Amino acid sequence: MSDKKNETFDVIVIGAGPAGYVAAIRCAQLGLNTACIDNWINENGQASLGGTCLNVGCIPSKALLQSSELYEQTQHNLSSYGIEVGKVELNLNTMMARKDKVVAELTQGIAGLLKANKIKVIQGTAKLMSNKQIAVEYKQKQNRYCAESIIIASGSSSVEIAAAPLTDNLIVDSSGALSFDEVPKKLGIIGAGVIGLELGSVWRRLGAQVVMIEAQDEFLSMVDKQIAQDAHKEYKKQGLDIRLSARLMSTKISAVEKQSCVEVTYQDENGEQHEIFDKLIVAVGRRPNIERLFDEEAELILDERSYIHVNEQCETSQPGVYAIGDVVRGPMLAHKGSEEGVMVAELIASNTEIMANKTERLGSGINYDLIPSVIYTHPEIAWVGKTEQQLNAAGIAFNAGVFPFMASGRAKAQGDTRGMVKILAHQDTDRILGVHIIGNHASELIAQAVIAMELSASAEDIALTIFAHPSLSEALHEAALAVDKRAIHIVQK
Ligand code: FAD
Ligand code: NAD
Repeated sequence: MSDKKNETFDVIVIGAGPAGYVAAIRCAQLGLNTACIDNWINENGQASLGGTCLNVGCIPSKALLQSSELYEQTQHNLSSYGIEVGKVELNLNTMMARKDKVVAELTQGIAGLLKANKIKVIQGTAKLMSNKQIAVEYKQKQNRYCAESIIIASGSSSVEIAAAPLTDNLIVDSSGALSFDEVPKKLGIIGAGVIGLELGSVWRRLGAQVVMIEAQDEFLSMVDKQIAQDAHKEYKKQGLDIRLSARLMSTKISAVEKQSCVEVTYQDENGEQHEIFDKLIVAVGRRPNIERLFDEEAELILDERSYIHVNEQCETSQPGVYAIGDVVRGPMLAHKGSEEGVMVAELIASNTEIMANKTERLGSGINYDLIPSVIYTHPEIAWVGKTEQQLNAAGIAFNAGVFPFMASGRAKAQGDTRGMVKILAHQDTDRILGVHIIGNHASELIAQAVIAMELSASAEDIALTIFAHPSLSEALHEAALAVDKRAIHIVQK
């Protein structure tokens, strides 16, 4: 036992992912004496803050999406712009080193931010005990800490399936798929969800033949149907072989010409099917990290899917203990966890004397209906609010305005006219209920829709707003005009 046992803080945060480190920084900004405990160890055996998102999630995947996109563009598309280049070659080692550098700079940046905010970073695995005590295990030593308030932000891990147990580098999860040391000739992916599509796009662009085996019969069921159908066609054109209604039965490691490979058996409407892949990625969802997270006496109530049960304010079943991010209900997205971190930090501070003489206004909560989602394929898919299908199911009458990028001057000039913007507005009030975009830079464009919807804008409000010409954002303007059947640059009947 160390002499630091039972060190006391106002707040202890468990986990330094985008939920935890943001919560810790906001707590410290508000004057709370804060510690953040994290157990992430990277490939080099070093502690690395930032959780899944920075180490093996959002950031490295986007670094590889960027590199692979440039590679594909340079290989196939530059000549149409009047640019001739010589032979284009792939240097996968440099590509991976660039990704690692981006990750290292950002994770070190988080360490710097926590230090600057005087947050005590404790390395090790935390366990919640009774009476808001935390036991932290590190290198077989245990220390104890306690705090007035505890924020659990332990995140999530890839779901493993018995039919495809992970191996060293043949059957991998998303983390393994971010570090292949060569481009697989034939790559299988179980699950055509967000991870499958993003990582499938990376390796297809780099030269792999990609086959995706998806259990559901509907492609991207959470996305507006028209957008999902458009995306499906586009991915097919690009060469992603997406097999729907395909249920994985078993996998077997074998060898073809002395080369190890993965034999996959799956079932579809035509019966049992077999495929042989050089590598297989399992991307069938993520599950909350709750193992060994709390002592029996400190047991928190879980919901039916094993997420820590919380209310709208992220309070758990134990007073003073909060949980945020991927370990609780709601979309498993970095920005959702970060906003919950801010909300909880402000809630904790507002219950202390710290705020007594301060005039700072603290936020009142999160609008869970307006969390944007993005799939970073090319074209990108982004949406916020309700889909047509959800509105129909809820019996809400709406008008839809659609504007294709084909009719956008900026998209034409950029040489990428794929996709559309779709705005759904309430039939009576004209209030915007959902915005769905497929196209270049959809991830950036959607922010305008989120702001508009946060401010309860109507389609008419966007229609009355002036957008710079030429810009992709004009498509949002035109879609808003189209809600009232008065878009200028398309013919509306
Ligand atoms: P995590 O980021 O998982 O962090 C949890 C931290 O807690 C980890 O460091 C973990 O080691 C630590 N921890 C766990 N248990 C303990 C314990 N007992 N003691 C101490 N420490 C502990 N989301 C997006 O919004 N945009 C994207 O583009 C995106 N891309 C993704 C790409 C991939 C390949 C993956 C896998 C995920 C992606 N996500 C993306 C999802 C995103 O990474 C998660 O939603 C986000 O990281 C969740 O944040 P979190 O802080 O809740 O948990
Ligand atoms: P997902 O839920 O998006 O997709 C998993 C897919 O696997 C589903 O379509 C499901 O039907 C399918 N599936 C499940 N079991 C199967 C089986 N046995 N055989 C065949 N198919 C099966 O999950 P994911 O792609 O693993 O991503 C996990 C989470 O990470 C997502 O919830 C997402 O929020 C987050 N993420 C976000 C981004 C982003 O924001 N751009 C990127 C990557 C990951």
